[in-house]
Amino acid sequence: MSVPSFDASTKVSRCLFAQEALLPSGWASQVLLQWDQSGQLTSVQTHASPGDAPHAKGPVLPGMPNLHSHAFQRAMAGLTEYGQAAQDNFWSWRDLMYRFAAEITPDQLEAIATAVYIEMMEAGFTSVCEFHYLHHDQEGRSYADDRELSLRLLRAAEKSGIGFTLLPVLYQTSDFGDRVPRPDQRRFIRRTENMLALLEALKPACDSQYARLGLAPHSLRAVPPDALQQALLGLKSLDPSAPIHLHIAEQIAEVDACVRWSGKRPLQWLLDHCAVDERWCLIHATHIDSQECQRAAASGAVVGLCPTTEANLGDGIFDVRSWRSLGGRWGIGSDSHIVVNAAEELMMLEYGQRLAAQKRNLLIGPYASSVATSMTLEAVAGGAQASGRRVAGLAVGQQADWVILDADHPALQGLPNAESMLSAHIFASSRRSAIAEVWVAGQPRVQQGKHSDSMIARSEFQAARSQLMETSRS
Ligand SMILES: [Zn+2]
Repeated sequence: MSVPSFDASTKVSRCLFAQEALLPSGWASQVLLQWDQSGQLTSVQTHASPGDAPHAKGPVLPGMPNLHSHAFQRAMAGLTEYGQAAQDNFWSWRDLMYRFAAEITPDQLEAIATAVYIEMMEAGFTSVCEFHYLHHDQEGRSYADDRELSLRLLRAAEKSGIGFTLLPVLYQTSDFGDRVPRPDQRRFIRRTENMLALLEALKPACDSQYARLGLAPHSLRAVPPDALQQALLGLKSLDPSAPIHLHIAEQIAEVDACVRWSGKRPLQWLLDHCAVDERWCLIHATHIDSQECQRAAASGAVVGLCPTTEANLGDGIFDVRSWRSLGGRWGIGSDSHIVVNAAEELMMLEYGQRLAAQKRNLLIGPYASSVATSMTLEAVAGGAQASGRRVAGLAVGQQADWVILDADHPALQGLPNAESMLSAHIFASSRRSAIAEVWVAGQPRVQQGKHSDSMIARSEFQAARSQLMETSRS
């Protein structure tokens, strides 16, 4: 058999042979992947002959979508691990985060985002949903081009090669009941019609680099009911299937405030007032009751879980077992980027459940008895749905995104099969990534564990962080 296809511009064969690959239905042997010039998979054959196709150096996994990111927050990782108040919590962390957000420049945002997207790819994420709420300059005025900071993020995604869903954030009030925004929220605030104009202006830029554009009403405390309805209508006329993400119930204080305001819990209120369906991603559904859980699972919405950030911020533990038992869909995000590592998010998710239940191997699905395999498949499917992009794994018609594990990594060496290697990658690699290669849209972006722009991106990130440390201190 001859090599089926070859990309003359990049000198890369458009086929790959894997001894073992994780397909949406589970592990398969002798898998031949083929894709077209646009980077979409055209054939996934099992028990295939390799012919002249290059061989993957280890097990091939579907690329993981990262469904929740605030890229700039990577630059403050490590700055908030000090007890400053008698009761340090999410809200005291947020004050520090706002101080940082108040100072960031467009150049700094681009440098930080480029570096964090590259870091994501080196750690197994192949696409990202950016929940983007910094819109204006440091004084809260519109930039000359209102799209300025969104375009910086699009450029960062393009430079890194990561797949991208841009979710501009609608933010109008500081709390339930139309409370006026705080001065330190001035960079976030937009009227609804102003947001819809931004979406319209961003659409061509997103389309030209195959990025998906959606909307993120920040939370029910930040968007009043009328504005929410108007924004959803406007989005629907722009793109009826565009993704919609919002923070729903991260903190008990937020749930209590919503009950005082409306008599309902946040998710209950949302389900009563909006047509929540497959387009929706409910970020941090941490504090929901059994009725909300039942109704939301039936809606087809995805819950966006960010286990390392939720642990870092002391949010609480989402009952993912009840959610899954009702057929609920879920995916993972690295959110504040206290950790940037797809495997660690999955490990933390499973460990949270084990600690709460005092049992082991809890998140097991229909296609595997291995918890690592089950979690990977479910998080890829949920993440793809939340992204609104064709990134749902190794199947015809999906984007050619995958991760090749390094079978020679110390944590993986000598293990009997791909399934145990994936388990070791998630639970036993000790923070040293066991990833050899990462491909996005049929292009090898990470090789021998490194992205080609990793060094330059890291030094630009460090320069941006040093500048920010200076300005946010003064
Ligand atoms: Zn968030």
